[in-house]
Amino acid sequence: MKLKLPDDLKKYTVFTVLKRVIPCIVLLALISVLLCFFGERIFPADNIAFRGMLYAFALALPFVITGVPLKLFDSSWQGKITAVDIKDRWGFTNEAIPRVYGKINVNLTVEKSNGDITFVEINERTYTKFLHYRVSENRKNEHFLDKYKVGDRIFHLYGTKHVVILKDGNEGPVICAVCRRENDIQNDTCCDCGHTIVKSGFIR
Ligand SMILES: [Zn+2]
Repeated sequence: MKLKLPDDLKKYTVFTVLKRVIPCIVLLALISVLLCFFGERIFPADNIAFRGMLYAFALALPFVITGVPLKLFDSSWQGKITAVDIKDRWGFTNEAIPRVYGKINVNLTVEKSNGDITFVEINERTYTKFLHYRVSENRKNEHFLDKYKVGDRIFHLYGTKHVVILKDGNEGPVICAVCRRENDIQNDTCCDCGHTIVKSGFIR
């Protein structure tokens, strides 16, 4: 089953690919030209094999710098949460008056619409505060239990670093799949970036 993304989100993903690929191609072209015209001066090596190695190294640089093709390994997907695990790790800082620091991570097991199982880790909150704050943070864990529930449908847009919960009802805020801005559920487009807000599923 293929996701049918709204047109503006489709454009966003294409643009994201271009944004990653074009700098790589430009760098590659630039280095190729440099090697072509000034290669012997840049790498004055007599040994042909050694020079070949230097050339290969120089030509690999654009890929290392831009992260292509590794960064292209992503896809938009939709799935269902099958397990929620909230981890609250905390400790004390090494200061004269130690403060509490902590991280609340939400670990989700997700079954994608194509049947694949994937794991999503969301860093919900990082805090370094005094002890009383920790107590109030504890209470907020319940908020996260409410936010991520088994059975909820979840969506990830290619090129972004987050997931959004898909909502059918009329309650609560919805998160923009592109910029992560919280929007009113009545909104059809994001009040910040203007992209379509993905609320319910779009697999036909
Ligand atoms: Zn947005």
